[in-house]
Amino acid sequence: MKKIKVNLDKKVASSYEICIGYDVLDRIGLLIVKNMPALHYIIITDVNVSAIYGGLLLDRLKGMALPADMIEFPAGEDAKSIGTTIAIVERLIKLGADRKSALIALGGGVVGDVTGFIASTFMRSVPYIQIPTTLMAQVDSSIGGKTAIDLPEGKNLLGTFYQPRGVYIDVKFLDTLPEDEMSSGLAEVIKYGIIDDVAFFNFLERNIEAIKDRDRDVLEEMIENSCRIKKGIVEIDEKELGLRRVLNFGHTIGHAIEAESNYTISHGAAVSLGMLAAAKISERLYDLPEGDRERIEHLLESAGLSCRIPQTITTDGIITRLRADKKKEGDTIHFVLLKKMGMPFINGGVPESVLRETVEGMKK
Ligand code: ADP
Ligand code: ZN
Repeated sequence: MKKIKVNLDKKVASSYEICIGYDVLDRIGLLIVKNMPALHYIIITDVNVSAIYGGLLLDRLKGMALPADMIEFPAGEDAKSIGTTIAIVERLIKLGADRKSALIALGGGVVGDVTGFIASTFMRSVPYIQIPTTLMAQVDSSIGGKTAIDLPEGKNLLGTFYQPRGVYIDVKFLDTLPEDEMSSGLAEVIKYGIIDDVAFFNFLERNIEAIKDRDRDVLEEMIENSCRIKKGIVEIDEKELGLRRVLNFGHTIGHAIEAESNYTISHGAAVSLGMLAAAKISERLYDLPEGDRERIEHLLESAGLSCRIPQTITTDGIITRLRADKKKEGDTIHFVLLKKMGMPFINGGVPESVLRETVEGMKK
């Protein structure tokens, strides 16, 4: 089992560990007792994850004589709502949870976001740990302490920064993860290679087939590297003021595509399209070598991510959403672009004509 220590500003939160390995779940009871002592543990999960792993985790805790309960809610982004949040809190109260209780998020990004949000607010906050079960959650959303729920007006509108007491990643969870969920997570993994670590990008190119075959050792190394890169960036910039913005590589255009598709395109697939668009813009305006752009395109394709924007998504729609984004930030849209592989920078404005032509050029 690999361990990565996340060091945080002591005034804000205490440091914690990310543990990564195969069968981490076998040791979960000890890890929880050591890092998050509590009188009552409540696992929060969705119905899909609960059906495969819920009983297993509950048994592990009960096997160590730890008082434990489980709350499940429907799977999917629609469940990241106020309604679900209140229903979970009502269940917590019925189960007798109080300030000596602690929460355990078992699931993907949705479970992690909702559980973290509740942990940060329930009875003015209780501790929680993350046990992420999707690749997306293992390499991205479980690290950094962002929590949120959606409102009818938009995604992630209500949220907090609240750090977990630990993140426990069992690579074994990925054995049952559907292929499109795997590809979606791989988009963020590839992003880390592009923005931070060329050697890691090379590793991904060499091992993409093994990754798709879910080779344990390769997955473990890949997840460890991803967590290390994300935690490095998060540590320096806990509240997203400066450096952390490079993590938004591919996300400006990606978010516009995701929203324009009414969220029928997954976050990772949209980010993948956004990264390719950013690479194309960088090639055109900032001399990103053609070979670098080609490598990015090729790796995304090998990872099962489409490099074409569906015809049903209009260029005007994407541009309108980007403009709306611009209003939020003042007069310029801040794109993360590339000087070369591993060298991102924040650009202060891309001409609309270039945006339009890039998006058009990526249509099916
Ligand atoms: P993400 O982590 O990508 O943000 P979700 O939390 O919505 O996404 O999880 C995506 C879907 O995958 C949900 O339907 C969830 O129940 C399911 N899921 C999560 N982890 C696993 C797993 N290890 N095996 C199978 N299905 C899983
Ligand atoms: Zn993302």
